[in-house]
Amino acid sequence: MLHKTPRTTPSRYANQRAHYDQEQIYAILDEALFCTVSYAEDNQPFSIPQSYIRVGDHIYLHGSVGSHFVRILSEGHPACISVMLADEIVVAKTAFHHSINYRSVVIFAKGEIVEDQELKYQAFKALTEKMVPDSWDYLKPMSKKEMDKTTAVRFALTEASAKMRQGAPGHEESEMDLPIWTGVISIKPIRQAPVPDEHGKKVPLPKHLLKSAKGS
Ligand SMILES: Cc1cc2nc3c(=O)[nH]c(=O)nc-3n(C[C@H](O)[C@H](O)[C@H](O)COP(=O)(O)OP(=O)(O)OC[C@H]3O[C@@H](n4cnc5c(N)ncnc54)[C@H](O)[C@@H]3O)c2cc1C
Repeated sequence: MLHKTPRTTPSRYANQRAHYDQEQIYAILDEALFCTVSYAEDNQPFSIPQSYIRVGDHIYLHGSVGSHFVRILSEGHPACISVMLADEIVVAKTAFHHSINYRSVVIFAKGEIVEDQELKYQAFKALTEKMVPDSWDYLKPMSKKEMDKTTAVRFALTEASAKMRQGAPGHEESEMDLPIWTGVISIKPIRQAPVPDEHGKKVPLPKHLLKSAKGS
């Protein structure tokens, strides 16, 4: 269980929808592929979408050594990182009660450059395998030059909250008999079959992509 702090406590639904259980937080982080990292420089907020990977009790972001966000975050500026899985649109009898079923995480942390080459390598491997499962050993091995061109910054998962909404729409008792449809519409992302480019057409589809090819 993570320690709850004033800035990880929502003002709304704090008891019903906010969670600090590490397992729940990590499950969301492991399912989502992308995050938004936010930070301020000279009083100017920036909010940048990124890929990320969780390894142990850290999440790792990476970018070009020349990238603005990498430079700022690796200087240890405070960052706020958010991740969301939007599962369903909740359709109510009134526009007011429409909602979203979601699972999301907000993390507060300061970044540190990953100097340890083995840790950095393992983070790239884990990220690649998250994007394309079981693909690492199939690929041309990552070179030192490629590693050096990329900076990895990691953030400790010590101050974070999860928030979730699930279930049917809310309603007012007085509206229950109105003949208006209510329910949910799934908006969960689904992996489609891989589409080869000109070079991919010359090579058989590898085993690890067959699962995606079946649309699962
Ligand atoms: C896909 C999606 C759509 C949403 N649409 C809306 C919308 O249209 N309107 C709306 O009011 N809300 C929406 N929310 C919920 C929104 O993220 C906030 O939770 C909500 O605005 C209430 O914020 P608050 O004032 O209680 O939190 P604040 O008091 O502003 O937040 C304090 C702390 O609570 C925690 N916290 C707050 N929200 C979250 C969260 N979602 N996940 C994890 N930790 C959180 C964080 O640690 C944050 O620093 C949506 C969420 C998602 C994921």
